[in-house]
Amino acid sequence: MTRKEWADFLVPNIKYDREYYEKKYPKRDLSEGAMVVRVAPSPTGFVHFGTIFQGVMVQNLAKNSDGIFYIRIEDTDQKREIENGVEQIIEAFQFFGIDYDEGMISENEEKGNYGPYIQSKRREIYCAYVKDLIEKDLAYPSFTTPEELERLRHEQEIRKGRMGYYGHYAKDRNLSIEEAFEKIKNGEKYVIRFKSPGNFENKIAFQDLVKGKVMMPENDIDHIILKGDGLPTYHFAHVIDDHLMHTTHVVRGDEWLSSLPVHVQMFEALGFEVPKYAHPSPIMKEEDGKRRKISKRKDPEADIREFKKIGIPVEAMKQYLMTLVNSNYEEWYEKNPDKELDDFKVTFKKMNISGSLFDMEKIINLSKNFLAKITAEEFYNRLLLWSEEFDSEFHELLINHKKESISILNIERDEEKPRKDYSSYSNVYPAIWYMYDEKFNVPLENYEFDKIKEKSEISKILTVYLTKYYDEKDSQDEWFGKMKVMCDELGYASNMKDYKQNPDNYKGNIADISTVIRVALTSKKQTPNLFDILKILGAQKIEERFSKLI
Ligand code: GLU
Repeated sequence: MTRKEWADFLVPNIKYDREYYEKKYPKRDLSEGAMVVRVAPSPTGFVHFGTIFQGVMVQNLAKNSDGIFYIRIEDTDQKREIENGVEQIIEAFQFFGIDYDEGMISENEEKGNYGPYIQSKRREIYCAYVKDLIEKDLAYPSFTTPEELERLRHEQEIRKGRMGYYGHYAKDRNLSIEEAFEKIKNGEKYVIRFKSPGNFENKIAFQDLVKGKVMMPENDIDHIILKGDGLPTYHFAHVIDDHLMHTTHVVRGDEWLSSLPVHVQMFEALGFEVPKYAHPSPIMKEEDGKRRKISKRKDPEADIREFKKIGIPVEAMKQYLMTLVNSNYEEWYEKNPDKELDDFKVTFKKMNISGSLFDMEKIINLSKNFLAKITAEEFYNRLLLWSEEFDSEFHELLINHKKESISILNIERDEEKPRKDYSSYSNVYPAIWYMYDEKFNVPLENYEFDKIKEKSEISKILTVYLTKYYDEKDSQDEWFGKMKVMCDELGYASNMKDYKQNPDNYKGNIADISTVIRVALTSKKQTPNLFDILKILGAQKIEERFSKLI
């Protein structure tokens, strides 16, 4: 049997050969320096924080170089695949507003000329290249069973040797075509392995765009390239896909750095140009003083849906991710607060080599700043969308009290230094519920009266305020002026300085009086600006709320 016949026999019924695909996916017509980058998630669980981190990073690289950013779904591990895995990935990118030039846009549709963008639909393509390798004696069928491999692993462990299928351990490597053919005729199951031309004794240098120069031994392991189910392994699919899709920069998690010798060797064996590689470090968490990678299993925040639920605006989230991508982003943003995220230029040089620490406090801060900057109307619309999914009670209130809600959100917003009252969509309602009449039925013992607690005194203050000093039409200055006069009348200090000098001369001070009014209206001793609350509630509601206490 010739090698060609052997290859035909092992990989039958393949319509097209490698030449066909090489022509079908020609070099991209892009300008000098344009980067072709991708994110390649597997639909094996919820979308990981790291995937979006990578998305923010590479989208920026593509945009700023007039390049291409595409998404490739890596679903060759069908045992681990989850239902709706692909939709979840598409939705996540949509939710974060990370647009891609090419890739799946629904479970069955895609855009771009270099697809299919999902590996399970690329079987024929992989096979064409496997066939080519067999013909060139760079791949062979291997019959070693999982049990035998387990035994091999055990043996290597005992000998404290290097693990893997190489050298004399790669026992099927030297089977003749006839011997292998015989086994197949006898019904023995097989996979296809790459026949590594490498020598482990050789050290070679690789240039990683993030990690710099790394020295590693040449690969000599005969890795599986085509599994028993006819699908490729990651190693092979990576090489074929990134070649045919003309990826210029493979940006991926640094758990793959150690596989670089395998991948470079395969690129070369196939006669492909080797892309550039960048292995940024993952996002880390600190636990018991030790750093570890953020993990799907242990960290709820690894699941990006968590942030959606809490209601961190996407913009703040993306800003946060950018601070992790490039260490100089924050400084740039401080100087350019009105620019867009894409105006910042991501560089490999400024990527963190050792892994950035996940920092929820920072996310909250960015979120606070962002929510303080948008208009009340925009905030309202965002809350409407968020609450529709996560808080139906609040949603109803927002719909029934649109004008009022916007006024509440607008308290001290239109100012040079707006208040930063809200850190997420989910913490708006707990901060303002008392403004909605239908929610304001608080038992008296829960009112947070502070210094002034006596019922008779409270009643007196409220009565005097309502009958003599409250006027719906007052401006803030007029209102405050009257509060002072009232203080004098009731024996409280209207001036804090005077009070501090002679506290014994007074029953209390203007802050204590304000607290009484504030608590009477809201039950809380801490609220946004009292004057605004009075304005929004209006005379009738103020009277109703006071009368409960008078
Ligand atoms: N599917 C691989 C992963 O999720 C992608 C690695 C790569 O970007 O090449 O780890």
